[in-house]
Amino acid sequence: MIIGLDDTDSVNGMCTTYIGTLIVEALKDLGSDLIREPPRLLRLNPNNPYKTRGNGAVSIRIRENSGPRLSDKIKSVSFDIITKYSESGDNTNPAIVFIDDNLITKETLVFAKRALHEMLSIEEAISLLDKIGAEYKFIGNGRGLIGALASCALELDDFTYELIVYRSHNKRGKKFVSEESAIQIEKNYSPRIFSSYDFENNRMVISPHSDCPILYGLRGESPEILFEAASQIKSEPPFKRNLFVTNQGTDMHLEEKMIEEVLPFSSVIVNGVISKDPYTVLGGHVFFEISNGKKILCAAYEPTKGFRNIIRNLSKGDQIVAYGGVLDTEYGLTINLEKIEVLKLTEIFKNKKPVCPICGNQMKSIGKGKGYRCKKCHTKNKDSLAEPIQREIKEGLYEVPICAKRHLSKPLLRYGRERNFEEERFKFDYTKFDIKFEGI
Ligand code: ATP
Repeated sequence: MIIGLDDTDSVNGMCTTYIGTLIVEALKDLGSDLIREPPRLLRLNPNNPYKTRGNGAVSIRIRENSGPRLSDKIKSVSFDIITKYSESGDNTNPAIVFIDDNLITKETLVFAKRALHEMLSIEEAISLLDKIGAEYKFIGNGRGLIGALASCALELDDFTYELIVYRSHNKRGKKFVSEESAIQIEKNYSPRIFSSYDFENNRMVISPHSDCPILYGLRGESPEILFEAASQIKSEPPFKRNLFVTNQGTDMHLEEKMIEEVLPFSSVIVNGVISKDPYTVLGGHVFFEISNGKKILCAAYEPTKGFRNIIRNLSKGDQIVAYGGVLDTEYGLTINLEKIEVLKLTEIFKNKKPVCPICGNQMKSIGKGKGYRCKKCHTKNKDSLAEPIQREIKEGLYEVPICAKRHLSKPLLRYGRERNFEEERFKFDYTKFDIKFEGI
C-alpha cells in the first residue's frame, strides 16, 4: 500500500513533510519493518497558483501484505494525524489517499506525470480515485487529493535525497541555524550536496525563513553523505529528522516544446532566435523575445539577481534554448527563466569612423547613409569600416543563482549525475533509521 498526503500546511505554519514524518513515526511503532524505504517528497507543478511554497506532496510506501486489520489501523492512525496537525483555513485542503500497488494503473501514472506539467482539477482526481477503487479522505474542498494521488504514482527517472531536520511544531519564531555551517557544507560537499549556500549573493539556503517546523534541509546524492554533513551543522536543538527520496534537482518538470506548443502553467525547454534585444523594466526585471516564426517572451526576474547581467549581454540574432516555467502575464505568455543555453552568438558590428585617405585625419559622419567627411581637408568617403564587437558572453549553459533556484531545477553541477531510482531503491535500510534525535 502507498499512502499519499498533501495540502496540510499554510503560510502560517506546518509542513506536509513534517506531518508525513509524524505518520512514519507512528507507523514504525506499529511494526518496525512496515516501512522499508524512505518516504518520497515529490515536487509537482511549480507554476501551480494554489501552492503554499514549493508544491510538495509526500508519499509513504508500506510493506505489502500488511493484512486487513493492520491495514485499517494504518489508515486510521494516519488520518488522525492529518486531522490533528494540519493547518486550517480557506487555502488549506488536507487530503490523504491509500492505494494498493495493484491499483496504480497506466491512467494513474499519466495523471501523476501531468501533475508536474499541467493544472489538474479536483473532480478529475476524485473520479480517478473512484475508478481505481482507492480509499481517500479529505478536509475542505478536496484539492489536496490531486497532490496526494500524484505523489503515490509518480515514477522517478532521476532522483536525489533530502535530509530534513525539524524543530517542534509548537516552537515558533526565529530559528537558529549557523550560517557558517552552511558555508562549510557548500565548500566541502558541493556538488554531492547541492544548494546549501549561495556565495554569489551571500545567502544561506538550507533553512527556510517561514514559520514552519523545518530547521534545515540538506539535499544531495546519498543518505550517508547527508548524515555526515548534518552532524557538522550547529543549530538550536533539533526535535526530529527524516530522510526523503525526492525529485528535487532533476528538471523533471521541464518538457521540450516548440514555441507554438507552449501553454500557460507548463515548464518548457524551447529553442529560438532572439528577435527583440533584452530590456529592463521597472522593478529590475529583464525581458527579451525569442522567435522561430512564432514569438514568446522570456524573463529574468529581479530575484534572479546577477543572472540578469548574463541575459543583458544577449543580442538579437543569438540562438538560444530557454528553460523555465510559463505564465500568462500582463505582457503575454512569458517563460520565467531558470536556465539558458546560448547555442550560437551572432556577430555584432559597430561602424568605425574611417580615416581620411588624403591627410590621415579622422573623418566625421555627415548624416545617416550619406557617408563621412574629413574635418580638415573636406575629402568625402561613403564607406565606413564595420568592426566586430567583442561579445561579453560566451556560448554555453547558464543558470539562476542558488537563492533563486526552484526545488525541481537541476543544478548545472548535477549534469551527468542522473541515477536510476529502481536500481538503487533498497540500497538504504530505512527500517534502521531513527526519526527522533538522540537525547530527546
Ligand atoms: P509545502 O511545499 O510547503 O508543503 P505546497 O507549496 O506544497 O506546500 P500546498 O499547500 O500543498 O502547497 O498546496 C498545493 C495544492 O495544489 C494542493 O492541494 C495540491 O493537491 C494541489 N496541486 C498540486 N499539483 C497540482 C496540479 N498540477 N494541478 C492542480 N492542483 C495541484
